[in-house]
Amino acid sequence: MKAEIIASGTELLLGEIKDTNTAFIASRLATQGIDLHFASIVGDNYQRYLELLKQAWKRSDVVITTGGLGPTKGDITREVIAGLMNEEMQVDESLKQNLESYFIRQKSKMPEGNLKQATLIPSAVAVPNPRGTAPGWWVEKSGKVIIALPGPPGEMQPMWDSEIGPKLEKRSGAIILSRTLKSWGISEGKLDEMLTPFLSGSNPTTAIYAKIDGIHVRITAKAVERRTAGQMILKAENEILKVLGDSVWGKDEETLESLVGKMLTERGLTLAVAESFSGGLLASALANVSGSRSFFNGGLVATSEPAREILGDHHASSETSLETTRALAAGVRTRFNASIGVALDGSRDLETGQTGKAFFAIDTGIPGKNIDQVYQWRPQQLVSRSIMYVLFNLRKALLTM
Ligand code: ATP
Ligand code: MG
Repeated sequence: MKAEIIASGTELLLGEIKDTNTAFIASRLATQGIDLHFASIVGDNYQRYLELLKQAWKRSDVVITTGGLGPTKGDITREVIAGLMNEEMQVDESLKQNLESYFIRQKSKMPEGNLKQATLIPSAVAVPNPRGTAPGWWVEKSGKVIIALPGPPGEMQPMWDSEIGPKLEKRSGAIILSRTLKSWGISEGKLDEMLTPFLSGSNPTTAIYAKIDGIHVRITAKAVERRTAGQMILKAENEILKVLGDSVWGKDEETLESLVGKMLTERGLTLAVAESFSGGLLASALANVSGSRSFFNGGLVATSEPAREILGDHHASSETSLETTRALAAGVRTRFNASIGVALDGSRDLETGQTGKAFFAIDTGIPGKNIDQVYQWRPQQLVSRSIMYVLFNLRKALLTM
């Protein structure tokens, strides 16, 4: 089943709003076993919209539109669909009553323009929209479908999940499941080499993506039954895990910070951080993990001499070095009364673009279990990369604790 998305709205073409509807629908289609072949944006111009819809209707089995269902003259999606189908829009009495009672509840008078939101064409049935005034349209003819959804994501998304998604899933007769394995420490090229037999498979497919938290391996399987797809994924996953071993640190929605949080909680340990050039982003990543209060004692952004002295770094005026970073980690561990202290220090120059340097130290208070490292990277990504470095090494330290 070939699908196509049309997002309408002149605001989109002007770059005033971002087309997040297409991204949302595309990601839903991908899990519903429906192949998306085209996605386009068109302004609120009848002729151009009609031309595009005609083309979509010819080449795709399912056409999904978003936007243009409002009450104003610029909202023309219904008119364009009626034009394509050569059918007449007529007021549907029960839709009209729904609309009128909506305005009564809002204690306001229904503007004349809203009446077109209660219209249908003979090939269309209304798709309920509990969050707004405009119902969507499900238009079916000659084995093909046009689905017209409103523009506001707060209305469109729940309509997708409650009405459209389930109907389309049934229609497609297939389901797509995927699993992401997250790795760290093996280069993209090496990973490509190690996974060659998997990368050429067609179902399940395997693909690799370089991300800020390492390289992701995504396995995708398509089957008629959800269970079958699940089994196909599990089989490939186990084989890939055998090849990659413990360089895989997590799956799907797992993040390094959530993993570290989980490991700390399981071990009844706490953490405190001192950071400089990352400006609190390491602390923020940890604080955003749910339940972080039980393991995260706090953090200090220490960029100046007095701030660093709070943590007992008396070499503050000297150059950043592993020695001062270790002192900060030990200082924050004791001052914040935590089991583990982490310091992330460094410097970068965004103007010259020269490679930046990050230093980090993990102080566990246990001899032999501390980790420190110097790390260099492009200045633009130095902060995000070094945070991942710290978290990955925290995981490493925690594995032995
Ligand atoms: P309304 O009844 O609010 O006019 P509508 O169905 O006519 O809804 P539009 O007029 O096209 O939709 O857009 C209304 C608002 O919905 C936009 O201002 C924007 O905030 C949001 N919106 C529209 N299209 C998109 C899109 N493709 N991605 C994200 N947001 C969108
Ligand atoms: Mg509108």
